[in-house]
This record gives sequence, structure tokens and C-alpha cells, in this order.
Amino acid sequence: MDFSLGDEEKAIRETARTFIRKEVMPLEQEVLRRERAHEPGLRLDELRELQGKARAFGFWGLATPEAYGGMDLPAVMQSLIWTEIGRSWVPFRFGGEADNILFFANEEQKAEFLLPTIEGERISCFAITEPGAGSDAANIRMTARRDGDDWILDGEKTFITNGNDADFAIVVAVSDSGQDVRNGGSTAFLVDRSMGWRSEFIPTMGEGGPASLVFDSVRVPARNVLGEVGQGFALGMQWIGKGRYIIPSHAVGTAERALRMAIEHANTRETFGRPLSSNQAIQWMIADSETELEAARWLILRAAWTVDQGLDARHASSMSKLYGARMVNDVVDRVLQIHGGMGYTRELPIERWYRQVRLLRIFEGTDEMQRLIISRDLLRGYTEIGGHLA
Ligand SMILES: Cc1cc2nc3c(=O)[nH]c(=O)nc-3n(C[C@H](O)[C@H](O)[C@H](O)COP(=O)(O)OP(=O)(O)OC[C@H]3O[C@@H](n4cnc5c(N)ncnc54)[C@H](O)[C@@H]3O)c2cc1C
Repeated sequence: MDFSLGDEEKAIRETARTFIRKEVMPLEQEVLRRERAHEPGLRLDELRELQGKARAFGFWGLATPEAYGGMDLPAVMQSLIWTEIGRSWVPFRFGGEADNILFFANEEQKAEFLLPTIEGERISCFAITEPGAGSDAANIRMTARRDGDDWILDGEKTFITNGNDADFAIVVAVSDSGQDVRNGGSTAFLVDRSMGWRSEFIPTMGEGGPASLVFDSVRVPARNVLGEVGQGFALGMQWIGKGRYIIPSHAVGTAERALRMAIEHANTRETFGRPLSSNQAIQWMIADSETELEAARWLILRAAWTVDQGLDARHASSMSKLYGARMVNDVVDRVLQIHGGMGYTRELPIERWYRQVRLLRIFEGTDEMQRLIISRDLLRGYTEIGGHLA
């Protein structure tokens, strides 16, 4: 069994690491300063400029097929790069990406929505959650009623990432109330903001924030149906499933950086005439953090590897999301504890991480929903304990 990375993986990761260190990390103090002043940490034009620089470095469209100018990297490689991104609290990501389900668009829609999104000229958001339907996404109530060549959308979506900035939304609505939402009853639509939906920012404990979207008799031409009529829920689940190993990959980078800070602090801070690190209570926090980090790393890489094998990765991805999200919360909590009062101040990024990583246990499937998926697979005998090594 070989746990090492290949030469190409090492080289690509090193290039990503260098880019983050040289171009992204120098912005960190300014990001903290702006956020303390309730301004966006990184403006869109600044993000685009950074993404342009990264493109010159060779990083463009990690997950995007080569036919669309992307790198089409294997999932393991993507995971390793997201870990590099996660080391910095600057809200940066490489450009050249689009929602995975936009690739189901027809040629006309690709020209109008997919290609400009990849190029960063348009901003999308994906909306399935409603005030009455989160974990229970099949309970959505937004209606799509056929009217001649158009559909009329009515209802509200909530907690939509990018909802305030997006100029179009991918919206899942009930298109046939006589059928199961999961199977034939819902449809995904590509809806320009100019068609009449409005958004409202939702303040949250993290930086940035999602939005609620209100659709009040919004008329959408039938040519804006994404995929097939009746396929909306399936597309939605595919959108959500994509991020399940990416989210914890980012968390590994954050946890590593935070743990390094704690180790440095423990070695330099003195209490009772000796370094903090000489206390077993502190040593154990460091040991537990490193052990959980390492466990998360391998769960995530195994999930990504499963994707690369073309196997069904849902079970492995759910385990990596569940464990990775918990891990980063526990590590950041310990890191804050080791820093004492300083950890609680806004001078350091720790309290920011503490607020930000809490989201990871909620969005794209809560901890409880991941447990539901994992246990259901086992209870109905769909997966073996031990996965491919069983
Ligand atoms: C910042 C942010 C960004 C988001 N971005 C998007 C986005 O871009 N697009 C989008 O569509 N949605 C988005 N969401 C919505 C997110 O996916 C939902 O918040 C999430 O799925 C949980 O749904 P809920 O908030 O309605 O909680 P609920 O479903 O009401 O659940 C409340 C609690 O009960 C638990 N629970 C629910 N049912 C069960 C059960 N059967 N057994 C045990 N426990 C249960 C849940 O795990 C949770 O802890 C975002 C949310 C946030 C906070």
C-alpha cells in the first residue's frame, strides 16, 4: 500500500501552495481590517484580478472540462488544492468554475449561462432551500405553472449563497404537484434577475452571508428549463453532492494552519514560569487535534479517490463531510482555548475561523443528514463496513 503522492500531484500542489503564499496570504491583514469595519474582505474586482493572476500560473477551472478551457483535474488533485486554499482566511477560490449542473445546459443555454459563468462575467446562485424545506428538500413549495410558452414561478427561497450578487439563479420549483417532487414533480430553471426576482441579504454569524430570493409571478420562458422538465430534484441533489469532499478538504487546510499557530503559541507563551507547551493539558489538545486532522485527511482523500475510480462516492463523501466539518470545529475550538483571551479577540483570525467553520456542519447537508445517509446505506445493506477494503 502506497500513501505517498505522485510527482505530478506534488508539483501541482507546490505551485498552488506558492501562489497562495505569495499572492493571497499577503492580503490577510487587510481582509481582517475590512471585515472589522463591516466591509467585504475581498471585493469582486480584487477576486477577479487574483483569479486572473492564478490563470497565468496555470490554475483555471479545477473541475472544468478541458473542452471549456479548464484543468479537469482528478478529484484527489482538486482536494489537495482546496486544502491549500483553506490555509488562508482570504475568501479566495480559483476561477474558471461553474456549478456542475450547468453542464447539463443545452447549447443555447451554455452560451448564455455556462460560458460567461466560467469566464467570471456572470454570477450564478443555486436555490433549492425554502423557509419550510431545508434538510427535507423534497418539501419545497415554490410553484412553476405553465402558461403558454412560459412558466410562472411563485414562492421564496432562503439561505442562498451568492443570492445577493448573482445575476441569474438556478431554481428548483414544483412543476407538477400531482407527482413526487423527487421523481418527476420538480424542474430546474435558469432565471435571470432581470426577469423579476429580488433578493435580501441575511446577516449570519460568518462573514459574507446568503440571501433570500422572492419570486412573485416571475415569468420564465420554457427555453430556460435546465435539463428535462421533472428532473429538478435529481439535478439539485447532484449540485449538493459535488461539494461533499471539497468542503472538508478546505477545512483540512484551515485546521492545519490553526494548529500550527497553537503549537507556536504554546511554545512561546509562558505561564507559571514555563512554556504553555510543558503542560499535559495543552499537549493533549495538540495531540487530539493532529490525530483528528490526520483521520479527516484520509477519509477525504479516500472519498476523492472513490470519485476518481468512477465508483459511487456518496457514502465515502458523506463520512468525509461529517467528520471533516466536526474536526475543524473541534480543532479551532482547542486552538482558541490554547490562545486564551487573545484567541477571543479580533486581532487574530481564530475567532473568525470559529464563526466561519460552524457553517460547515450545517450547509450542503447537516451533520444529521450525513449520519442519515451513512446509516441508511449500512442498514439496507447497500454498503459494506470497511468500504472497498472490506
Ligand atoms: C450560509 C448558508 C449558505 C447556504 N447556501 C445555500 C445555497 O446556496 N443553496 C441552497 O439551496 N441552500 C443553501 N443553504 C441552506 C442549507 O442547505 C440548509 O440550511 C440546510 O440544509 C439545513 O436546512 P434548515 O436550515 O432548513 O434546517 P432544518 O432542516 O430545519 O433542520 C434543523 C436541524 O434539525 C436537524 N434535522 C432535520 N431533520 C432531521 C431528522 N430527520 N433527523 C435528525 N435531525 C434532523 C438538522 O440536521 C438541523 O440540525 C445555506 C445555508 C446557510 C446557513
